Amino acid sequence: MSASELMVPEMDVVQTDKSFDVVIIGSGAGGATLAQQLAKTGKSILILERGEHLPVEPENWSAKEVFLRERYKAKETWRDRKGRKFQPNIHYWVGGNTIFYGAALYRFRKQDFEETIHHGGAVSPAWPIRYEDLADYYTQAEALWNVHGKRGADPTDDADAPPYTHPPMSHDPEISKLNGRLKLQGLHPFEMPLAVERDDANVAESPCVRCRTCGGFPCKRKAKSDGRKMVELALEYPNVELLTDAKVVRLETAEGGSSVSAVVYETKEGIARVKGDIVVLAAGAINSAAILLKSANKDHPNGLANASDQVGRNYMFHTASASVSFAWPKIETDFPKTLAINDFYWGDPNGSFPFPMGHIQGLEYLSGEVIRGQLAQTMPSWLIPQAAAEFIGDRLLAFLIMSEDLPEARNRVRIGSDGGIELDYWHNNLVAHDRLIKRFHKAMTKAGRACRCLRANRYQMDQILPIYGTAHQCGTLRMGHDPQTSVVDARCKAHEIDNLYVADTSVFVSSAAVNPALTCIANSLRIADILAQRLAG
Ligand SMILES: Cc1cc2nc3c(=O)[nH]c(=O)nc-3n(C[C@H](O)[C@H](O)[C@H](O)COP(=O)(O)OP(=O)(O)OC[C@H]3O[C@@H](n4cnc5c(N)ncnc54)[C@H](O)[C@@H]3O)c2cc1C
Ligand code: SF4
Repeated sequence: MSASELMVPEMDVVQTDKSFDVVIIGSGAGGATLAQQLAKTGKSILILERGEHLPVEPENWSAKEVFLRERYKAKETWRDRKGRKFQPNIHYWVGGNTIFYGAALYRFRKQDFEETIHHGGAVSPAWPIRYEDLADYYTQAEALWNVHGKRGADPTDDADAPPYTHPPMSHDPEISKLNGRLKLQGLHPFEMPLAVERDDANVAESPCVRCRTCGGFPCKRKAKSDGRKMVELALEYPNVELLTDAKVVRLETAEGGSSVSAVVYETKEGIARVKGDIVVLAAGAINSAAILLKSANKDHPNGLANASDQVGRNYMFHTASASVSFAWPKIETDFPKTLAINDFYWGDPNGSFPFPMGHIQGLEYLSGEVIRGQLAQTMPSWLIPQAAAEFIGDRLLAFLIMSEDLPEARNRVRIGSDGGIELDYWHNNLVAHDRLIKRFHKAMTKAGRACRCLRANRYQMDQILPIYGTAHQCGTLRMGHDPQTSVVDARCKAHEIDNLYVADTSVFVSSAAVNPALTCIANSLRIADILAQRLAG
Protein backbone atom coordinates (compact mmCIF):
# COMPACT_ATOMS: atom_id res chain seq x y z
CA MET A 1 0.00 0.00 0.00
CA SER A 2 1.45 3.40 -0.96
CA ALA A 3 1.75 6.28 1.48
CA SER A 4 -0.71 8.35 -0.55
CA GLU A 5 -3.34 5.70 0.08
CA LEU A 6 -2.64 6.07 3.78
CA MET A 7 -3.01 9.84 3.79
CA VAL A 8 -4.71 11.08 6.93
CA PRO A 9 -8.21 12.05 5.83
CA GLU A 10 -9.05 15.75 5.88
CA MET A 11 -10.48 16.55 9.30
CA ASP A 12 -12.45 19.46 10.60
CA VAL A 13 -9.69 21.87 11.41
CA VAL A 14 -10.32 24.78 13.71
CA GLN A 15 -8.81 27.65 11.76
CA THR A 16 -6.48 29.69 13.93
CA ASP A 17 -4.79 32.88 12.80
CA LYS A 18 -1.82 32.28 14.99
CA SER A 19 1.48 32.50 13.28
CA PHE A 20 5.01 32.27 14.69
CA ASP A 21 8.51 32.83 13.41
CA VAL A 22 9.40 29.30 14.51
CA VAL A 23 7.21 26.33 15.45
CA ILE A 24 9.10 23.51 17.21
CA ILE A 25 7.45 20.09 17.42
CA GLY A 26 8.55 18.23 20.56
CA SER A 27 10.29 19.35 23.76
CA GLY A 28 12.88 16.61 24.35
CA ALA A 29 16.67 16.82 24.14
CA GLY A 30 16.59 18.33 20.65
CA GLY A 31 13.47 20.53 20.71
CA ALA A 32 13.88 22.00 24.20
CA THR A 33 17.59 22.75 23.73
CA LEU A 34 16.83 24.47 20.43
CA ALA A 35 13.98 26.51 21.97
CA GLN A 36 16.06 27.88 24.85
CA GLN A 37 18.87 28.85 22.48
CA LEU A 38 16.67 30.42 19.81
CA ALA A 39 14.70 32.28 22.49
CA LYS A 40 17.59 34.74 22.70
CA THR A 41 16.85 35.96 19.15
CA GLY A 42 13.59 37.57 20.35
CA LYS A 43 11.70 35.83 17.54
CA SER A 44 8.30 34.39 18.32
CA ILE A 45 8.58 30.67 19.07
CA LEU A 46 5.88 28.09 19.73
CA ILE A 47 6.70 24.66 21.15
CA LEU A 48 4.02 22.07 20.41
CA GLU A 49 4.30 19.13 22.81
CA ARG A 50 1.93 16.17 22.84
CA GLY A 51 2.58 15.45 26.54
CA GLU A 52 1.70 17.32 29.70
CA HIS A 53 3.95 18.53 32.54
CA LEU A 54 5.07 15.47 34.49
CA PRO A 55 3.86 15.75 38.10
CA VAL A 56 6.57 15.95 40.75
CA GLU A 57 5.20 13.38 43.21
CA PRO A 58 6.40 10.56 45.50
CA GLU A 59 5.66 8.02 42.75
CA ASN A 60 8.55 9.50 40.70
CA TRP A 61 10.88 7.35 42.79
CA SER A 62 8.66 4.33 43.27
CA ALA A 63 10.08 1.34 41.39
CA LYS A 64 6.69 -0.34 41.67
CA GLU A 65 4.92 2.59 40.02
CA VAL A 66 7.57 3.26 37.40
CA PHE A 67 8.61 -0.27 36.40
CA LEU A 68 5.76 -2.55 37.39
CA ARG A 69 2.76 -0.26 36.83
CA GLU A 70 4.43 1.77 34.06
CA ARG A 71 2.89 4.94 35.38
CA TYR A 72 4.69 7.31 33.00
CA LYS A 73 5.26 5.21 29.87
CA ALA A 74 3.21 6.01 26.77
CA LYS A 75 0.08 3.84 26.58
CA GLU A 76 0.64 3.11 22.96
CA THR A 77 1.27 -0.04 20.96
CA TRP A 78 3.19 -0.35 17.72
CA ARG A 79 3.79 -3.39 15.53
CA ASP A 80 7.04 -5.16 14.64
CA ARG A 81 7.91 -6.50 11.18
CA LYS A 82 5.88 -9.64 11.81
CA GLY A 83 2.82 -7.64 12.79
CA ARG A 84 3.20 -8.43 16.50
CA LYS A 85 2.13 -5.68 18.88
CA PHE A 86 4.62 -4.24 21.37
CA GLN A 87 4.71 -1.33 23.80
CA PRO A 88 7.71 0.92 23.08
CA ASN A 89 9.89 2.29 25.86
CA ILE A 90 8.77 5.83 25.10
CA HIS A 91 7.51 8.74 27.21
CA TYR A 92 5.38 11.67 26.12
CA TRP A 93 5.91 14.53 28.58
CA VAL A 94 7.28 18.04 28.50
CA GLY A 95 11.02 17.23 28.39
CA GLY A 96 10.52 13.99 26.47
CA ASN A 97 12.59 10.90 27.12
CA THR A 98 15.32 12.87 28.87
CA ILE A 99 13.20 12.88 32.04
CA PHE A 100 13.80 9.13 32.26
CA TYR A 101 17.25 8.90 30.77
CA GLY A 102 20.37 7.75 32.58
CA ALA A 103 22.07 11.17 32.11
CA ALA A 104 25.20 9.63 30.56
CA LEU A 105 26.21 12.38 28.15
CA TYR A 106 29.01 11.33 25.80
CA ARG A 107 30.57 12.97 22.78
CA PHE A 108 30.82 10.76 19.72
CA ARG A 109 34.46 10.06 18.88
CA LYS A 110 36.13 11.89 15.94
CA GLN A 111 36.22 8.67 13.92
CA ASP A 112 32.49 8.12 14.53
CA PHE A 113 31.83 10.90 12.00
CA GLU A 114 34.02 9.19 9.36
CA GLU A 115 33.41 6.08 7.29
CA THR A 116 34.41 3.05 9.34
CA ILE A 117 34.55 -0.59 8.30
CA HIS A 118 33.06 -3.04 10.77
CA HIS A 119 33.31 -6.81 11.01
CA GLY A 120 32.13 -8.61 7.87
CA GLY A 121 32.75 -5.51 5.73
CA ALA A 122 29.71 -3.65 7.04
CA VAL A 123 30.07 0.10 6.69
CA SER A 124 29.32 2.81 9.19
CA PRO A 125 28.95 5.74 6.78
CA ALA A 126 30.55 9.19 7.04
CA TRP A 127 28.47 12.14 8.21
CA PRO A 128 28.27 15.27 6.02
CA ILE A 129 29.73 17.16 8.99
CA ARG A 130 32.98 16.40 10.84
CA TYR A 131 33.57 16.13 14.56
CA GLU A 132 35.22 19.56 14.35
CA ASP A 133 31.91 21.09 13.19
CA LEU A 134 30.33 19.99 16.47
CA ALA A 135 33.30 20.31 18.85
CA ASP A 136 32.46 23.79 20.18
CA TYR A 137 28.78 22.89 20.41
CA TYR A 138 29.68 19.79 22.43
CA THR A 139 31.55 22.06 24.85
CA GLN A 140 28.55 24.40 25.13
CA ALA A 141 26.19 21.44 25.51
CA GLU A 142 28.24 19.92 28.33
CA ALA A 143 28.17 23.23 30.22
CA LEU A 144 24.45 23.84 29.58
CA TRP A 145 23.51 20.33 30.71
CA ASN A 146 25.89 20.35 33.74
CA VAL A 147 27.97 17.37 32.69
CA HIS A 148 30.37 16.06 35.37
CA GLY A 149 33.39 14.30 33.95
CA LYS A 150 37.16 14.05 33.65
CA ARG A 151 38.63 15.00 30.30
CA GLY A 152 41.33 12.65 29.07
CA ALA A 153 40.26 9.74 31.29
CA ASP A 154 38.44 8.02 28.43
CA PRO A 155 41.22 6.77 26.11
CA THR A 156 39.05 7.23 22.98
CA ASP A 157 37.63 10.69 23.71
CA ASP A 158 38.90 14.03 22.38
CA ALA A 159 41.61 14.69 24.96
CA ASP A 160 42.13 18.21 23.58
CA ALA A 161 38.59 19.37 24.38
CA PRO A 162 38.36 21.85 27.28
CA PRO A 163 37.92 20.40 30.77
CA TYR A 164 34.37 19.71 31.95
CA THR A 165 32.89 22.52 34.04
CA HIS A 166 32.18 20.04 36.87
CA PRO A 167 34.45 17.39 38.40
CA PRO A 168 33.53 13.75 37.77
CA MET A 169 31.09 11.89 39.99
CA SER A 170 33.14 9.96 42.53
CA HIS A 171 32.99 6.15 42.65
CA ASP A 172 31.30 4.42 45.59
CA PRO A 173 33.91 2.33 47.48
CA GLU A 174 32.83 -0.94 45.81
CA ILE A 175 33.13 0.62 42.36
CA SER A 176 36.53 2.08 43.28
CA LYS A 177 37.69 -1.43 44.17
CA LEU A 178 36.45 -2.77 40.86
CA ASN A 179 38.12 0.14 39.06
CA GLY A 180 41.45 -0.83 40.67
CA ARG A 181 41.06 -4.50 39.74
CA LEU A 182 40.28 -3.66 36.11
CA LYS A 183 43.30 -1.34 35.96
CA LEU A 184 45.54 -4.14 37.24
CA GLN A 185 44.50 -6.07 34.11
CA GLY A 186 45.81 -3.23 31.93
CA LEU A 187 42.36 -1.78 31.16
CA HIS A 188 41.56 1.94 31.38
CA PRO A 189 38.17 2.28 33.09
CA PHE A 190 37.12 5.91 33.40
CA GLU A 191 34.63 8.14 35.17
CA MET A 192 31.39 8.27 33.18
CA PRO A 193 30.28 11.77 32.07
CA LEU A 194 26.99 12.37 33.91
CA ALA A 195 24.54 15.27 33.70
CA VAL A 196 23.33 15.75 37.26
CA GLU A 197 23.55 18.62 39.73
CA ARG A 198 25.84 17.00 42.24
CA ASP A 199 28.12 18.95 44.55
CA ASP A 200 30.44 16.52 46.34
CA ALA A 201 32.16 19.47 48.05
CA ASN A 202 28.87 20.47 49.70
CA VAL A 203 26.86 17.32 50.04
CA ALA A 204 24.37 18.86 52.47
CA GLU A 205 23.20 21.35 49.86
CA SER A 206 23.72 19.23 46.76
CA PRO A 207 20.48 18.96 44.75
CA CYS A 208 21.50 15.44 43.66
CA VAL A 209 21.60 12.95 46.53
CA ARG A 210 22.99 9.99 44.55
CA CYS A 211 19.82 7.99 45.05
CA ARG A 212 19.01 4.48 43.82
CA THR A 213 16.33 5.65 41.43
CA CYS A 214 18.00 7.68 38.68
CA GLY A 215 18.08 6.12 35.18
CA GLY A 216 14.61 5.00 34.15
CA PHE A 217 12.98 7.26 36.77
CA PRO A 218 12.10 10.97 36.80
CA CYS A 219 14.23 12.87 39.33
CA LYS A 220 11.90 13.94 42.15
CA ARG A 221 14.41 16.63 43.13
CA LYS A 222 14.76 17.79 39.52
CA ALA A 223 18.52 17.42 39.95
CA LYS A 224 19.01 15.49 36.72
CA SER A 225 19.65 17.75 33.73
CA ASP A 226 16.74 17.09 31.43
CA GLY A 227 14.53 18.67 28.80
CA ARG A 228 12.24 20.13 31.49
CA LYS A 229 15.03 22.46 32.52
CA MET A 230 15.60 23.56 28.94
CA VAL A 231 11.89 24.31 28.57
CA GLU A 232 12.00 26.35 31.78
CA LEU A 233 14.95 28.33 30.43
CA ALA A 234 13.11 28.93 27.15
CA LEU A 235 9.94 30.09 28.89
CA GLU A 236 11.87 32.79 30.75
CA TYR A 237 11.66 34.67 27.45
CA PRO A 238 8.33 36.39 26.68
CA ASN A 239 8.63 35.46 23.00
CA VAL A 240 8.37 31.71 23.73
CA GLU A 241 5.10 29.82 24.20
CA LEU A 242 4.57 26.18 25.08
CA LEU A 243 1.39 24.34 24.17
CA THR A 244 1.03 20.99 25.94
CA ASP A 245 -1.35 18.19 24.99
CA ALA A 246 -0.81 19.22 21.37
CA LYS A 247 -0.06 16.17 19.26
CA VAL A 248 1.04 17.09 15.76
CA VAL A 249 -0.76 14.90 13.26
CA ARG A 250 0.47 16.26 9.96
CA LEU A 251 2.18 19.10 8.15
CA GLU A 252 0.50 20.83 5.23
CA THR A 253 2.38 22.34 2.32
CA ALA A 254 1.78 25.44 0.21
CA GLU A 255 0.78 25.12 -3.45
CA GLY A 256 3.67 23.42 -5.26
CA GLY A 257 4.76 21.67 -2.10
CA SER A 258 8.07 23.44 -1.48
CA SER A 259 7.23 24.89 1.95
CA VAL A 260 5.25 23.91 5.02
CA SER A 261 2.19 26.16 5.22
CA ALA A 262 0.64 24.87 8.45
CA VAL A 263 1.17 22.47 11.32
CA VAL A 264 -1.96 20.53 12.22
CA TYR A 265 -2.28 19.28 15.79
CA GLU A 266 -4.79 17.51 17.97
CA THR A 267 -5.77 18.55 21.50
CA LYS A 268 -8.53 17.43 23.86
CA GLU A 269 -10.63 20.25 22.32
CA GLY A 270 -10.16 19.00 18.76
CA ILE A 271 -7.96 19.66 15.76
CA ALA A 272 -6.20 23.00 15.27
CA ARG A 273 -3.72 24.54 12.90
CA VAL A 274 -0.85 26.98 13.34
CA LYS A 275 1.62 28.58 10.97
CA GLY A 276 5.37 28.92 11.28
CA ASP A 277 7.80 30.72 8.97
CA ILE A 278 10.15 27.95 10.02
CA VAL A 279 8.98 24.56 11.26
CA VAL A 280 11.32 22.29 13.21
CA LEU A 281 10.58 18.61 13.76
CA ALA A 282 11.95 17.31 17.07
CA ALA A 283 9.41 14.64 17.98
CA GLY A 284 12.01 11.87 18.35
CA ALA A 285 13.34 9.67 15.56
CA ILE A 286 10.29 7.43 15.22
CA ASN A 287 7.55 10.02 15.64
CA SER A 288 9.27 12.62 13.44
CA ALA A 289 9.43 10.08 10.61
CA ALA A 290 5.81 9.08 11.27
CA ILE A 291 4.64 12.70 11.05
CA LEU A 292 6.31 13.11 7.64
CA LEU A 293 4.87 9.84 6.36
CA LYS A 294 1.40 10.84 7.55
CA SER A 295 1.71 14.20 5.79
CA ALA A 296 1.45 12.73 2.30
CA ASN A 297 -0.40 15.03 -0.11
CA LYS A 298 -0.73 15.52 -3.85
CA ASP A 299 2.70 17.15 -4.13
CA HIS A 300 4.32 14.61 -1.82
CA PRO A 301 2.44 11.35 -2.46
CA ASN A 302 4.92 9.21 -0.47
CA GLY A 303 5.01 11.51 2.50
CA LEU A 304 6.69 14.85 3.02
CA ALA A 305 10.35 15.16 1.98
CA ASN A 306 10.19 11.57 0.79
CA ALA A 307 10.67 11.66 -2.99
CA SER A 308 13.64 9.29 -2.65
CA ASP A 309 11.82 6.97 -0.22
CA GLN A 310 14.33 7.65 2.57
CA VAL A 311 11.93 8.85 5.28
CA GLY A 312 11.81 6.30 8.10
CA ARG A 313 14.71 4.18 6.79
CA ASN A 314 18.04 3.44 8.51
CA TYR A 315 16.41 3.17 11.93
CA MET A 316 19.00 2.36 14.61
CA PHE A 317 18.76 1.84 18.39
CA HIS A 318 22.06 0.17 19.41
CA THR A 319 23.01 -3.46 19.55
CA ALA A 320 22.93 -3.67 23.32
CA SER A 321 22.85 -6.21 26.11
CA ALA A 322 22.56 -5.96 29.84
CA SER A 323 25.22 -7.90 31.69
CA VAL A 324 24.82 -8.73 35.35
CA SER A 325 27.57 -9.94 37.61
CA PHE A 326 26.98 -11.59 40.94
CA ALA A 327 29.04 -12.11 44.08
CA TRP A 328 27.75 -13.46 47.42
CA PRO A 329 28.81 -10.52 49.60
CA LYS A 330 26.30 -7.68 49.58
CA ILE A 331 27.45 -4.69 47.51
CA GLU A 332 27.36 -1.47 49.50
CA THR A 333 26.49 0.97 46.74
CA ASP A 334 23.58 3.27 46.00
CA PHE A 335 24.94 4.83 42.85
CA PRO A 336 27.09 2.33 40.93
CA LYS A 337 26.66 4.08 37.59
CA THR A 338 29.99 5.93 37.50
CA LEU A 339 32.39 3.62 35.68
CA ALA A 340 32.77 2.94 31.97
CA ILE A 341 35.21 1.11 29.70
CA ASN A 342 36.19 2.01 26.13
CA ASP A 343 39.30 -0.16 25.70
CA PHE A 344 37.48 -2.28 23.11
CA TYR A 345 35.76 0.58 21.28
CA TRP A 346 37.83 0.27 18.10
CA GLY A 347 38.81 -3.39 18.46
CA ASP A 348 40.46 -5.84 20.80
CA PRO A 349 43.71 -4.30 22.09
CA ASN A 350 45.33 -7.75 21.91
CA GLY A 351 44.99 -7.55 18.11
CA SER A 352 42.69 -10.59 17.78
CA PHE A 353 39.72 -8.58 16.47
CA PRO A 354 40.64 -5.45 14.48
CA PHE A 355 37.06 -4.14 14.17
CA PRO A 356 34.98 -1.82 16.38
CA MET A 357 33.45 -3.72 19.31
CA GLY A 358 31.80 -1.06 21.44
CA HIS A 359 31.35 0.51 24.83
CA ILE A 360 30.62 -0.73 28.36
CA GLN A 361 29.01 1.37 31.10
CA GLY A 362 27.75 0.79 34.60
CA LEU A 363 24.01 0.75 35.10
CA GLU A 364 21.90 1.92 38.01
CA TYR A 365 21.35 0.02 41.24
CA LEU A 366 18.92 -2.83 40.58
CA SER A 367 16.27 -2.88 43.28
CA GLY A 368 14.05 -5.93 43.68
CA GLU A 369 11.14 -4.01 42.13
CA VAL A 370 13.20 -3.04 39.09
CA ILE A 371 14.28 -6.67 38.61
CA ARG A 372 10.67 -7.80 38.90
CA GLY A 373 9.59 -5.04 36.51
CA GLN A 374 12.18 -6.04 33.90
CA LEU A 375 11.42 -9.75 34.19
CA ALA A 376 7.70 -9.05 34.08
CA GLN A 377 8.18 -8.32 30.35
CA THR A 378 8.62 -12.07 29.89
CA MET A 379 6.95 -13.75 32.90
CA PRO A 380 4.21 -12.88 35.43
CA SER A 381 5.67 -10.82 38.29
CA TRP A 382 4.03 -13.06 40.94
CA LEU A 383 6.45 -15.79 39.88
CA ILE A 384 9.30 -13.66 41.20
CA PRO A 385 8.98 -13.22 44.99
CA GLN A 386 9.89 -9.74 46.19
CA ALA A 387 12.27 -11.00 48.94
CA ALA A 388 14.25 -13.10 46.46
CA ALA A 389 14.44 -10.19 44.04
CA GLU A 390 15.71 -7.87 46.83
CA PHE A 391 18.33 -10.43 47.90
CA ILE A 392 19.64 -10.72 44.35
CA GLY A 393 19.47 -6.97 43.71
CA ASP A 394 21.79 -6.29 46.66
CA ARG A 395 24.41 -8.59 45.15
CA LEU A 396 24.28 -7.63 41.49
CA LEU A 397 26.23 -5.15 39.45
CA ALA A 398 24.68 -4.39 36.09
CA PHE A 399 26.43 -3.10 32.99
CA LEU A 400 25.19 -2.00 29.61
CA ILE A 401 27.23 -3.47 26.75
CA MET A 402 26.65 -1.47 23.64
CA SER A 403 27.88 -1.97 20.07
CA GLU A 404 27.16 0.19 17.08
CA ASP A 405 23.88 -0.52 15.32
CA LEU A 406 24.68 -0.12 11.63
CA PRO A 407 22.23 1.69 9.35
CA GLU A 408 20.28 -0.57 7.01
CA ALA A 409 17.62 0.63 4.59
CA ARG A 410 15.31 -2.26 5.51
CA ASN A 411 15.25 -1.22 9.18
CA ARG A 412 12.51 1.34 8.97
CA VAL A 413 9.47 3.11 10.36
CA ARG A 414 6.29 2.58 8.40
CA ILE A 415 2.66 3.56 8.88
CA GLY A 416 0.25 0.63 8.99
CA SER A 417 -3.12 0.51 7.30
CA ASP A 418 -4.72 1.46 10.65
CA GLY A 419 -2.51 4.59 10.86
CA GLY A 420 -0.34 3.01 13.59
CA ILE A 421 3.44 2.89 13.71
CA GLU A 422 5.22 -0.20 12.39
CA LEU A 423 8.90 -0.83 12.98
CA ASP A 424 10.81 -3.25 10.76
CA TYR A 425 14.05 -4.28 12.40
CA TRP A 426 16.77 -6.89 11.92
CA HIS A 427 19.66 -6.99 14.43
CA ASN A 428 23.17 -6.50 13.10
CA ASN A 429 26.82 -6.31 14.19
CA LEU A 430 26.34 -9.36 16.42
CA VAL A 431 29.80 -10.89 15.99
CA ALA A 432 31.52 -7.79 17.38
CA HIS A 433 28.90 -7.59 20.11
CA ASP A 434 29.43 -11.21 21.18
CA ARG A 435 33.19 -10.64 21.31
CA LEU A 436 32.70 -7.58 23.49
CA ILE A 437 30.47 -9.47 25.91
CA LYS A 438 32.99 -12.30 26.19
CA ARG A 439 35.90 -9.91 26.79
CA PHE A 440 33.96 -8.06 29.45
CA HIS A 441 32.92 -11.23 31.22
CA LYS A 442 36.52 -12.40 31.23
CA ALA A 443 37.66 -9.12 32.78
CA MET A 444 34.90 -9.21 35.41
CA THR A 445 35.63 -12.85 36.27
CA LYS A 446 39.28 -11.95 36.76
CA ALA A 447 38.11 -9.08 38.95
CA GLY A 448 36.34 -11.60 41.18
CA ARG A 449 32.74 -11.58 40.01
CA ALA A 450 30.64 -14.30 38.43
CA CYS A 451 29.12 -12.91 35.27
CA ARG A 452 26.03 -13.71 33.29
CA CYS A 453 24.73 -11.93 30.34
CA LEU A 454 20.99 -11.56 30.06
CA ARG A 455 21.51 -12.23 26.39
CA ALA A 456 22.95 -15.72 26.43
CA ASN A 457 21.87 -16.50 22.90
CA ARG A 458 20.07 -14.88 20.01
CA TYR A 459 16.69 -16.18 21.03
CA GLN A 460 17.06 -14.69 24.46
CA MET A 461 18.26 -11.44 22.99
CA ASP A 462 14.94 -11.10 21.26
CA GLN A 463 13.36 -11.60 24.63
CA ILE A 464 15.58 -9.36 26.71
CA LEU A 465 16.58 -6.47 24.49
CA PRO A 466 13.99 -6.57 21.80
CA ILE A 467 12.42 -4.00 19.58
CA TYR A 468 10.55 -2.26 22.39
CA GLY A 469 13.86 -0.90 23.67
CA THR A 470 13.49 2.27 21.62
CA ALA A 471 15.46 4.47 24.07
CA HIS A 472 18.35 5.14 21.68
CA GLN A 473 16.26 5.47 18.52
CA CYS A 474 17.93 7.44 15.71
CA GLY A 475 18.69 7.68 12.00
CA THR A 476 15.26 7.81 10.35
CA LEU A 477 15.68 11.22 8.65
CA ARG A 478 19.35 10.97 7.89
CA MET A 479 21.55 13.99 7.19
CA GLY A 480 23.52 14.01 3.93
CA HIS A 481 24.56 15.89 0.81
CA ASP A 482 22.74 13.57 -1.61
CA PRO A 483 18.90 13.81 -1.64
CA GLN A 484 18.80 10.27 -3.03
CA THR A 485 20.27 8.82 0.15
CA SER A 486 19.27 11.34 2.82
CA VAL A 487 16.30 13.42 3.97
CA VAL A 488 17.94 16.58 5.32
CA ASP A 489 21.07 18.41 4.25
CA ALA A 490 24.13 19.15 6.38
CA ARG A 491 22.27 22.13 7.89
CA CYS A 492 19.42 19.78 8.85
CA LYS A 493 16.99 21.39 6.41
CA ALA A 494 14.79 18.99 4.44
CA HIS A 495 16.15 18.73 0.89
CA GLU A 496 12.72 19.17 -0.62
CA ILE A 497 11.17 21.76 1.71
CA ASP A 498 12.44 25.33 2.14
CA ASN A 499 11.31 25.94 5.71
CA LEU A 500 11.41 22.51 7.36
CA TYR A 501 14.28 21.53 9.69
CA VAL A 502 14.87 18.48 11.88
CA ALA A 503 16.53 18.78 15.31
CA ASP A 504 16.35 15.38 16.98
CA THR A 505 18.21 12.08 16.72
CA SER A 506 16.49 11.31 13.39
CA VAL A 507 19.29 13.07 11.54
CA PHE A 508 22.05 10.75 12.81
CA VAL A 509 23.98 9.07 10.01
CA SER A 510 25.43 6.45 12.33
CA SER A 511 24.67 5.50 15.92
CA ALA A 512 28.26 5.17 17.21
CA ALA A 513 28.49 2.98 20.33
CA VAL A 514 27.88 5.59 23.00
CA ASN A 515 24.63 7.18 24.18
CA PRO A 516 23.01 9.60 21.73
CA ALA A 517 21.62 12.57 23.68
CA LEU A 518 24.70 14.83 23.87
CA THR A 519 25.20 14.64 20.10
CA CYS A 520 21.53 15.53 19.64
CA ILE A 521 21.88 18.47 22.05
CA ALA A 522 25.09 19.75 20.44
CA ASN A 523 23.56 19.48 16.99
CA SER A 524 20.51 21.42 18.20
CA LEU A 525 22.78 24.23 19.34
CA ARG A 526 24.35 24.18 15.87
CA ILE A 527 20.89 24.30 14.25
CA ALA A 528 19.98 27.22 16.54
CA ASP A 529 22.91 29.19 15.06
CA ILE A 530 21.85 28.25 11.53
CA LEU A 531 18.28 29.38 12.18
CA ALA A 532 19.30 32.56 14.01
CA GLN A 533 21.33 33.57 10.94
CA ARG A 534 18.43 32.81 8.64
CA LEU A 535 15.97 34.71 10.81
CA ALA A 536 18.30 37.70 10.97
CA GLY A 537 18.74 37.77 7.19
C1 LIG B 1 15.11 4.99 29.94
C2 LIG B 1 16.00 5.78 29.03
C3 LIG B 1 17.34 5.96 29.37
C4 LIG B 1 18.17 6.70 28.53
N1 LIG B 1 19.45 6.97 28.94
C5 LIG B 1 20.23 7.76 28.18
C6 LIG B 1 21.52 8.16 28.63
O1 LIG B 1 21.95 7.83 29.73
N2 LIG B 1 22.26 8.95 27.82
C7 LIG B 1 21.82 9.36 26.58
O2 LIG B 1 22.55 10.05 25.87
N3 LIG B 1 20.59 9.01 26.15
C8 LIG B 1 19.79 8.25 26.91
N4 LIG B 1 18.52 7.94 26.49
C9 LIG B 1 18.11 8.42 25.17
C10 LIG B 1 17.75 9.89 25.19
O3 LIG B 1 16.72 10.11 26.12
C11 LIG B 1 17.34 10.29 23.79
O4 LIG B 1 18.43 10.07 22.92
C12 LIG B 1 16.94 11.74 23.67
O5 LIG B 1 15.90 12.07 24.56
C13 LIG B 1 16.49 12.00 22.24
O6 LIG B 1 16.07 13.33 22.10
P1 LIG B 1 15.01 13.71 20.99
O7 LIG B 1 14.85 15.18 21.04
O8 LIG B 1 15.40 13.06 19.72
O9 LIG B 1 13.65 12.97 21.43
P2 LIG B 1 12.84 12.98 22.80
O10 LIG B 1 13.67 13.40 23.93
O11 LIG B 1 12.15 11.68 22.87
O12 LIG B 1 11.77 14.13 22.57
C14 LIG B 1 10.72 14.03 21.65
C15 LIG B 1 9.57 14.88 22.16
O13 LIG B 1 8.58 14.98 21.14
C16 LIG B 1 7.29 14.77 21.70
N5 LIG B 1 6.44 14.28 20.61
C17 LIG B 1 6.47 13.05 20.05
N6 LIG B 1 5.55 12.98 19.06
C18 LIG B 1 4.95 14.20 19.00
C19 LIG B 1 3.91 14.74 18.21
N7 LIG B 1 3.32 14.02 17.24
N8 LIG B 1 3.50 16.02 18.43
C20 LIG B 1 4.09 16.76 19.42
N9 LIG B 1 5.07 16.29 20.22
C21 LIG B 1 5.50 15.03 19.99
C22 LIG B 1 7.53 13.79 22.82
O14 LIG B 1 6.51 13.80 23.78
C23 LIG B 1 8.87 14.30 23.38
O15 LIG B 1 8.69 15.31 24.34
C24 LIG B 1 17.66 7.22 27.31
C25 LIG B 1 16.32 7.04 26.97
C26 LIG B 1 15.49 6.33 27.82
C27 LIG B 1 14.04 6.15 27.44
S1 SF4 C 1 18.86 12.82 43.05
FE1 SF4 C 1 20.62 12.52 41.70
S2 SF4 C 1 20.82 10.31 41.51
FE2 SF4 C 1 18.75 10.71 42.32
S3 SF4 C 1 17.42 10.85 40.47
FE3 SF4 C 1 18.09 12.90 40.96
S4 SF4 C 1 19.90 13.23 39.69
FE4 SF4 C 1 19.56 11.01 39.78
